[in-house]
Amino acid sequence: MIEFDEISSPVEQIHDDLFDAKGLKVFIKRDDMIHTFISGNKWRKLKYVLCDARQNGRNHLVTFGGAFSNHVIATAAAAAKFGFTSTGFVRGEEVTNDTLFLCRLHGMQLIFTDRESYRDKPALFEKHFGGDSKAYFIDEGGASALGARGCAEMVAEFPNVYDHIFCAAGTGTTAAGILNGLKDLPTQIHVVSALKGGEFLKDDIDGYLEGKYRYELHTDYHFGGYAKTTLELTDFIKSFIERTGILIEPVYTGKMMYAFYDMVKRDTFAPESSILAIHTGGLIGLLGMRDKF
Ligand SMILES: *Cc1c(COP(=O)(O)O)cnc(C)c1O
Repeated sequence: MIEFDEISSPVEQIHDDLFDAKGLKVFIKRDDMIHTFISGNKWRKLKYVLCDARQNGRNHLVTFGGAFSNHVIATAAAAAKFGFTSTGFVRGEEVTNDTLFLCRLHGMQLIFTDRESYRDKPALFEKHFGGDSKAYFIDEGGASALGARGCAEMVAEFPNVYDHIFCAAGTGTTAAGILNGLKDLPTQIHVVSALKGGEFLKDDIDGYLEGKYRYELHTDYHFGGYAKTTLELTDFIKSFIERTGILIEPVYTGKMMYAFYDMVKRDTFAPESSILAIHTGGLIGLLGMRDKF
């Protein structure tokens, strides 16, 4: 087994005149504070994946992602911390940026892969590491049932029961984990898709659910698509950071927080409601978006 430091993060209240005016109590779960590079939900998603790799005698983690992937840098840092070697298949032409620099510093071998070959990840794994009995396949984004299991554990850290919870989604693994953790608590879960056409997330989330849990999937806050942003979104993010001292970024947490504020302004929540936003981390990616601000 792997000796993990205990994973946990604080819940803080966010103050804003808008929330006072609407009679809402708003909190944020600071999973961004779990670790600088094994950020937020990525740490939770990797926990049981790493245990599984270790139990099966695999000491080489192999994973996949874009050049700004929070999951790839998290895997590189976790591999270094827990004594694994690591390889990242990076989609697209060879480039260099802060995320990939940090991956390399943590000892990860990077294999840049054209978009066509990248589509078939099991085939890539087989071609490069089929003969390596120590290699362990981790899907893009850490998407897996083991990942959802790790995310479910955050629910035990919630100091209260909330009326609403907001969470950003890329693969939906984190959202599914939270739903499994909450079970039948009367909390309304709002899953905000970071991708265009996010309706497909429903099947993915449902595939990880351990019961018939209800949630609302919001698909209209993608701002043009995955990792796309607009002036409206970056202006919102800047003002949120200035007013709260909490960094968020445009790919996931900025869209989730924008969706939440938008619904507050539309009087979606009854007065006296308590709302928890999950800060899933991902701040390294912000460094690649300087020119958007
Ligand atoms: C990866 C990531 C997500 C998406 O999590 P899923 O479990 O894939 O839905 C959300 N927020 C941040 C900051 C991320 O880095």
